[in-house]
Amino acid sequence: MPRISINQSRCKGCGLCVEVCPKHLISVDRGMNKKGVYPSFCSRPEDCTGCLLCVTACPDVAITISED
Ligand code: SF4
Ligand code: SF4
Repeated sequence: MPRISINQSRCKGCGLCVEVCPKHLISVDRGMNKKGVYPSFCSRPEDCTGCLLCVTACPDVAITISED
């Protein structure tokens, strides 16, 4: 099963991953990170298909997908 991990301290809040996820699993968090931006997080990680679109879209390499 794919397991998504978003490194919120690396995230610059560009929102690209939110746009590309075909299952709309990624949202913007309510708390700011140390960069002063609102990072993304995966609200329903159990529904991730591991398609890697978010990984490819992220300019800051903040998202990783691992297989259990
Ligand atoms: S790997 Fe695909 S399904 Fe999973 S969060 Fe990223 S874009 Fe969405
Ligand atoms: S694409 Fe990367 S930097 Fe942009 S919001 Fe998503 S995780 Fe953050």
